[in-house]
Amino acid sequence: MKQNEILLNFQPNGNGHTHKNGHAHHCEHQPDHSIEALIDQIGDEHIATSCDTPLRADAFAIDDATKIAKIEEHFRQIMEILGLDLTDDSLRGTPHRVAKMYVKEIFSGLNPVNKPAVKLFDNKFQYGEMLVERDITFYSNCEHHFVPIFGRAHVAYISSGKVIGLSKLNRIVQYFARRPQVQERLTNQIAIELQQVLQTEDVAVLIDATHMCVCSRGVQDVNSTTVTSFYGGKFRQEAVRSEFLKYVYQKA
Ligand SMILES: [Zn+2]
Repeated sequence: MKQNEILLNFQPNGNGHTHKNGHAHHCEHQPDHSIEALIDQIGDEHIATSCDTPLRADAFAIDDATKIAKIEEHFRQIMEILGLDLTDDSLRGTPHRVAKMYVKEIFSGLNPVNKPAVKLFDNKFQYGEMLVERDITFYSNCEHHFVPIFGRAHVAYISSGKVIGLSKLNRIVQYFARRPQVQERLTNQIAIELQQVLQTEDVAVLIDATHMCVCSRGVQDVNSTTVTSFYGGKFRQEAVRSEFLKYVYQKA
């Protein structure tokens, strides 16, 4: 493993454990219960409050075109408050570009209509073998700062008799990455989706990512990456987990 990696093993069912190593965040935070201190602490420590993305019930009550128009207007105001001259040719189109990018690209994974449809195939030849798709590059955004999180996801499953196309594994990763995220939640959302789609508990997900909010602001630790993992079913067995990690870290 690289230096300064943070190990975070997060299991929603309580069978996992969490620990951090070589981590430069403000861990000796003085107890301070003001709202502002809580906001700072959640952002700095990248604490997720739930496995589901916190969405309002009326999240999709307005259509994409309306969302783009509204975000465009608000983003224009942010730029104006910052003192930027929106009559400049270079800046004129930015509010619209940002709004369209938010709704149609980088946050398109909020909308369930964009969830990839998955077709299962019978696994006739390699029943019981582990399938690993490694180095799935993804781009996401930190929900605490709205700046990029990017890295690689490695996913694996042991077929229960069904398989899906490799490109679908990639698409599932991209779908959940295209939300405001925290890395632990991204890891778990991908794993739980794969368990449901593939009809098996035997799923592993490992994500190694860089957080621009850690690199470029706050503690400015340019070398650290964050590793999160989910091990379900047979992947909780030492030998099976080791086989998966061997495939992930051994570059053939
Ligand atoms: Zn952040």
